[in-house]
Amino acid sequence: MRAGVEVGEPHEHPEAVAALLAAHEFDVVLGSLHFVNDLPSFSRRYFRDQTLEEGVASYFSALAALAVAGDFDVLAHFDIICRAAYRAFGAVIADYSPYEGLMRQVLRILIERGKGLEINTAIAYRRMGDLASTLQVLRWYREMGGDIITLGSDAHHPRDVGAGCDGALDLARSAGFDRLATYEGRQVRRVSI
Ligand SMILES: [Zn+2]
Repeated sequence: MRAGVEVGEPHEHPEAVAALLAAHEFDVVLGSLHFVNDLPSFSRRYFRDQTLEEGVASYFSALAALAVAGDFDVLAHFDIICRAAYRAFGAVIADYSPYEGLMRQVLRILIERGKGLEINTAIAYRRMGDLASTLQVLRWYREMGGDIITLGSDAHHPRDVGAGCDGALDLARSAGFDRLATYEGRQVRRVSI
């Protein structure tokens, strides 16, 4: 059996994260961003006072700050902002081109620090986004030399564990990956796909 934990905004709470990770032996630590300037990155409220473009850009800037300083192994649901965008505007973000520079900055940091990137299937099976945009980011990541990919279904209910992972596997293969990462004692293990 393996144990994992997801830490939100680890760069903003380094002491709490250090205490948690010292108290338990986790196999994998997911890092994620649920709030930017106290606004929830999964809720329509996030966009109350900003346009889609402004909000997504500020989200990716904050994601870079997390990637630089957080103690984590894998960046989870980098695309959670799609959920807020869908809830606020009914808009599916199918193209990250306008944010390419910001997203590549995040990817560069992950690669330099040896951190993984999660393919999160929630936007697909909850119908709030388009995995074609995830494929776009996977291609950038691979082109830049990234090779640590994990799958996550972000299940908040037992019935959703593993949901959409078949599609995510196809996505990883389409982006040119022939192996996935898994973790044991916070060390990367490889699995051929
Ligand atoms: Zn989360």
